[in-house]
Amino acid sequence: MPVVKESRQVVRKFLARPQHEGVGAVVRRSIGRFELKYFDPFLVLDEFSVSAPAGFPDHPHRGFETVTYMLQGAVTHEDFEGHKGTIEAGDLQWMTAGRGIVHSEMPAAQGTQKGLQLWINLSSKHKMIEPRYQEITREEIAEGERDGIKVRVIAGEALGAKSPIYTRTPTMYLDFTLNPGANLQQPIPRTYNAFVYILEGEGVFAESPSPRPSPPTSAHHLLLLGGSGDGLLACNKSAKPLRFILVGGEPLGEPVAQLGPFVMNTQEEIDRTVEDYENCTNGFEKAKHWRSDAAVELGY
Ligand code: FE
Repeated sequence: MPVVKESRQVVRKFLARPQHEGVGAVVRRSIGRFELKYFDPFLVLDEFSVSAPAGFPDHPHRGFETVTYMLQGAVTHEDFEGHKGTIEAGDLQWMTAGRGIVHSEMPAAQGTQKGLQLWINLSSKHKMIEPRYQEITREEIAEGERDGIKVRVIAGEALGAKSPIYTRTPTMYLDFTLNPGANLQQPIPRTYNAFVYILEGEGVFAESPSPRPSPPTSAHHLLLLGGSGDGLLACNKSAKPLRFILVGGEPLGEPVAQLGPFVMNTQEEIDRTVEDYENCTNGFEKAKHWRSDAAVELGY
């Protein structure tokens, strides 16, 4: 019996080209570029690549969550509450910025640090909640395996493995590796918006039963999955492993007012946020006398 009765179809596909962000960092941004400002509830998807002394020195966030998943190397983060740590390859940090976080994200090792950062919007009733972290190390991330398919479950569940992450905006986030010849059928809740981002190799996604085969899609491509099908079909017809993330989330259906790292519902709320940040009030109190160790050391 098929797990997926009706596959989502690929409605848009584009290549995330490298651009400069932060201080000397390179990111491939897919969601959050001008062609795709918002894919409710997702604000940004960056595949970043950064080497010391470049990085993301002290900056604020309000109104959403940032999810950092390291692929190579390590990043040290510090925030204005004194929360500090290093996220290494395979580790996950799920940060709910809520009413306000000021932090830095800097390379922790020699060479190139690579990872993914996803910004998930919060609904109006959650935008001003207290900040919170959920951190999981590589060993703690749930993994499943079946028929040439491996999955690391960042959020949600797949192949019998379940993530302990609590998602305030209901979200699934799965890191799949398909061996050559593997065929995946992954359920997706029908109400979710969902996308695929390819990390390595080539895959065929959401192939419809037409006589003309779909061309495979390669690394750094984002595929938006349209329709309200109950899942995704994907297969690896190449001779090398295919690695991609499948992410889905319940759309909020609310207006979005954004100024860089501040994401609220109205312009008025953005104006108030800028005031709060400048005056160090309403959640930004601790920003007043804080500079990260990295910023002090590097003279930012
Ligand atoms: Fe940040």
